[in-house]
Amino acid sequence: MALLELNDVHTYYGNIHALKGISITVEKGEIVTLIGSNGAGKSTTLRTISGITPPRQGQVVLEGQRIDQIPAHKVVNLGVLQSPEGRRIFPRLSVRENLEMGAFTRTDKENSGPDMERGWGLFRRWKGRASQYGGTLSGGEQQMLAIGRALMGRPKVLLLDEPSMGLAPVLVEQIFNIIKDINAQGTTILLVEQNALMALGIAHRGYVLQTGQIVLADSAKALSENE
Ligand code: ADP
Ligand code: ADP
Repeated sequence: MALLELNDVHTYYGNIHALKGISITVEKGEIVTLIGSNGAGKSTTLRTISGITPPRQGQVVLEGQRIDQIPAHKVVNLGVLQSPEGRRIFPRLSVRENLEMGAFTRTDKENSGPDMERGWGLFRRWKGRASQYGGTLSGGEQQMLAIGRALMGRPKVLLLDEPSMGLAPVLVEQIFNIIKDINAQGTTILLVEQNALMALGIAHRGYVLQTGQIVLADSAKALSENE
């Protein structure tokens, strides 16, 4: 059974038909990337999975269960959207408090200890900065903190919407290395990226979207040879 499945999903904004029958599977342990030009429907796909824009037709299925039938308190832990609007950290909370807020979204609090360690593992080089205000970090550091916070919730699938957006090339490389590490430690990832080659460089498989439809689905290797 796939960890996450989209079956013939149609999503609308009013009468704008943004997703026209999208079917996607994500297996446990994979990095799957969605690529395609601006307006293709990548962000909408993530919003549809996370329930921000629910599908009008078709289903989103997580571990065999329709996502809209999973009790809300559980859904909180299922996906983390790193949309431009959701990427924000809490500027007036410290780095430590920002990370703790991420752990707070979990329902199984008794296991949060090891995950705090895991989240902190990303930030080893930040030693001594735990009490610094989030708002005083650089843009790239804030983005890493946002990913760290998302990880604290130990999501079943980490939904990443253009995590490299607006970052200097050296930071983009760091972010991609972190995403690879997170996956190597067992987190399943659905990654949306403008930079297709970077995304295909770390993904196992990819889907190419065009005007709300999937036009190609293949291994990352095959897709990057096509690019
Ligand atoms: P991508 O992430 O691939 O750039 P989006 O998912 O943002 O594409 O957009 C898919 C389509 O839906 C586009 O035609 C876009 O204009 C439209 N769209 C996205 N968000 C909204 C919205 N809030 N209201 C109306 N149309 C939207
Ligand atoms: P993205 O592709 O990452 O969604 P966009 O620049 O397309 O970024 O969209 C930025 C914001 O504007 C999003 O919140 C999106 O929902 C909204 N938006 C995008 N297209 C439209 C549209 N045609 N009408 C209204 N809102 C839109």
